[in-house]
Amino acid sequence: MTATATVFDAVIVGGGPSGATAAHDLVRAGYSVALLDRAGRIKPCGGAIPPRLIRDFAIDESLLVARIRSARMVSPRGEEVDMPIDGGFVGMVDREVFDEWLRERAAQAGAERLTGAFEHIRRDAPGIATVYYRTKDAQRSAPLASVSARVVIGADGAQSQVAKQEVPGADQIRYVAAYHEIVKAPAHGTGTYDATRCDVYYQGRLSPDFYGWIFPHGGTVSIGTGSACKGFSLRGGVGTLREAAGLSDAEVVRREGAPIPMKPLPRWDNGRDVVLAGDASGVVAPASGEGIYYAMAGGRLAAEAATEFLRTGDAKSLALARKRFMKSHGMVFFILGMMQRFWYTTDKRRERFVSMCRDRDVQRLTWEAYMNKKLVRARPMAHVRIFLKDLAHLAGIART
Ligand SMILES: Cc1cc2nc3c(=O)[nH]c(=O)nc-3n(C[C@H](O)[C@H](O)[C@H](O)COP(=O)(O)OP(=O)(O)OC[C@H]3O[C@@H](n4cnc5c(N)ncnc54)[C@H](O)[C@@H]3O)c2cc1C
Repeated sequence: MTATATVFDAVIVGGGPSGATAAHDLVRAGYSVALLDRAGRIKPCGGAIPPRLIRDFAIDESLLVARIRSARMVSPRGEEVDMPIDGGFVGMVDREVFDEWLRERAAQAGAERLTGAFEHIRRDAPGIATVYYRTKDAQRSAPLASVSARVVIGADGAQSQVAKQEVPGADQIRYVAAYHEIVKAPAHGTGTYDATRCDVYYQGRLSPDFYGWIFPHGGTVSIGTGSACKGFSLRGGVGTLREAAGLSDAEVVRREGAPIPMKPLPRWDNGRDVVLAGDASGVVAPASGEGIYYAMAGGRLAAEAATEFLRTGDAKSLALARKRFMKSHGMVFFILGMMQRFWYTTDKRRERFVSMCRDRDVQRLTWEAYMNKKLVRARPMAHVRIFLKDLAHLAGIART
């Protein structure tokens, strides 16, 4: 049975965390699925994932290349605040291995894997979308390959062609540009390097509106920064960061960059037969840049919406993906967006922000929110204390 001869229930364009999750969920729900991915590029990524992701998506812990036990926040003046994770860890994955494992899991469950680059969608018969794609070695003049389905999930990343061609408003998406250098891990203790700690630098010289990071990955380290400011040299920022951390001499394995979407798109579906997931729909958390968990959560919700559509034929069901995502995560995105807009704008504010992180309540709530992806309601007094301290900082009463 070839892909061209069959009408699948769903074609998923993009086999990153969002697309592979959607594919896996749909085949497990009994639908026929084709998973199209443009192979050959490792997704540039810091690779940090929270425990909730490992639990919710049944990730094999053998995929973790490092377990992080604390984060060090570094202020513009070089003040260091360590935030230990009590009894837990942040997992680190190597995206080359992690993404392939997710795709293979979907294939083992029954998804048909196709390799090629998405070109466009045509509707040649009622209720059927045909996805045209270019296979790797095909000449430019060769006819495109195609695969047909009743629904298409666009999970082809931040610069999604599916989104741009199919979903109104998707061409307006705004990005943070991110860049990192993968270097060989130095010996523990070289410069400020600690293989079990993530270092996060809040310094305007490293990023005028985001942060610089040093994320250990077992045999390698990701050293990066991001910014939406045109003209800011990300490469220069990473050079400065490497120098500050005593890692200038570490051997570079790869240099790479990619855009990170800044905000969820206002629509994720075309009202007909396409729904978006992951970076294609704009779901990376502001302030932290965390996208893997949200991509997989979005992939799962796109699969749920597609299931509903396949069951009922009602195209309005496709809008459920965004509705459910925003219900679960909209408030967190809103708060993180406000945080980024306020705290990441001047070095004076960054200094105060890092200083606030000394507070044990701030540390506990930050980690609980990150690890479990829930705004913690369990300790109302801690929230009140943080709110008052926050006010004091905003008003400049508290000392930095
Ligand atoms: C430098 C950097 C560091 C980051 N660090 C972190 C981090 O530490 N933790 C975290 O949680 N998030 C991080 N992120 C964000 C995270 O990488 C993304 O949010 C996440 O990968 C989104 O997953 P996705 O499946 O939606 O898209 P992607 O991972 O981008 O996957 C898209 C897939 O679509 C395929 N594709 C693209 N175009 C086509 C096409 N035309 N045809 C066919 N296939 C196509 C690609 O091959 C790819 O497999 C980082 C991002 C960057 C840029």
